[in-house]
Amino acid sequence: MSVLATPSVENTRSRLVVDLDAITRNYKLLQKQTPSAETSAVVKANAYGLGADAVARRLAKEGARTFFVATVEEGASVREALGDPLPDIWVLNGYRAKDRPLYIKHRLGPVLNQPGETNQFRAAPTGPCAVHIDTGMARLGYGAGDISGLLNALQNLDVSLIMSHLACAEETASTQNVRQLERFTALTNALPETRLSLSNTGGVLLGERYHFDLTRPGIGLYGATADLNADNPFEPVVSLQAPIIQLREIDAGDTVGYGATYVAHSPRLVATVAAGYADGLPRALSGAGCARIAGLRAPVLGRISMDLTIIDVTGLEQEIAKGAVPEFFGPDLYQAAALDGTLPYEILTGLSVRAERIYKGAT
Ligand SMILES: *Cc1c(COP(=O)(O)O)cnc(C)c1O
Repeated sequence: MSVLATPSVENTRSRLVVDLDAITRNYKLLQKQTPSAETSAVVKANAYGLGADAVARRLAKEGARTFFVATVEEGASVREALGDPLPDIWVLNGYRAKDRPLYIKHRLGPVLNQPGETNQFRAAPTGPCAVHIDTGMARLGYGAGDISGLLNALQNLDVSLIMSHLACAEETASTQNVRQLERFTALTNALPETRLSLSNTGGVLLGERYHFDLTRPGIGLYGATADLNADNPFEPVVSLQAPIIQLREIDAGDTVGYGATYVAHSPRLVATVAAGYADGLPRALSGAGCARIAGLRAPVLGRISMDLTIIDVTGLEQEIAKGAVPEFFGPDLYQAAALDGTLPYEILTGLSVRAERIYKGAT
């Protein structure tokens, strides 16, 4: 086993490259699927880990007029990034009276999920509100039994939107979707006429009956869907790039990484890459996932460590000499999610702050 001269790198920090042009194309694709509805953008959890400020600014520039966040703090931050009072920003996780100054200062709208929130809001409304009704998820929202009380509570409030959320939107054949659609229609018929919203990304793909007036895609913007087995119409958006900081040749019989779980069967060229599970690479990619170098696969050898990952770069000498940097995720995001027994959502929101965010197409 011997160490080879490694092209020197100035900066060993990983970089998360977020392609805002691809996010824009995904937004337009979602818009095209729902010609009769407005397409909002869900930018909660820091735009699924990618950076809500940059994403919201770009989508607002592309014409997005409505954004959703989970918390009032996220809403304040998105409003500051937009620097524009016009786009609506709705706070999904409900209203607390103590947050009233923030709602006013940042012109945020609450999504009212239950009587307690509506009562607090009614005592001193801050502007328009949205109402969430539950149609079969039992997570947030008024239940069918609360509708008559809701009707009373909404008097004198400026309700801009009534919404619900689908439990199985990515399962196109699920009868749960039809059940929720029917409940949504029945419950909203009993409420004052206003704009309606039911669909996340999966709901958009279910077809026109699910679109109503406003759609709420999140994951599709960021290049994925919730169903790892279905066709993905969206473009990859995210790549985690990390430099090679050491290169070596190993011989047959040599072992790699913690636990010595990889044993070389033949001489290999291996590279140590400056990103590990602390950067958001799932440890489940150990011995199973791959990086890409100039688009070519470089399998992960042995266990991923906290800050480092060892990959097999046999045959990729030329690409490396030309300066190609290993990349994770990109077109392999689904594979990473499958190996980790999770969804692209969790991989994206698990990307750490250590990785410097670099935006392609930032304005
Ligand atoms: C997160 C969320 C969305 C976006 O869902 P995706 O599956 O990412 O498109 C839409 N609506 C609500 C209520 C949500 O919580």
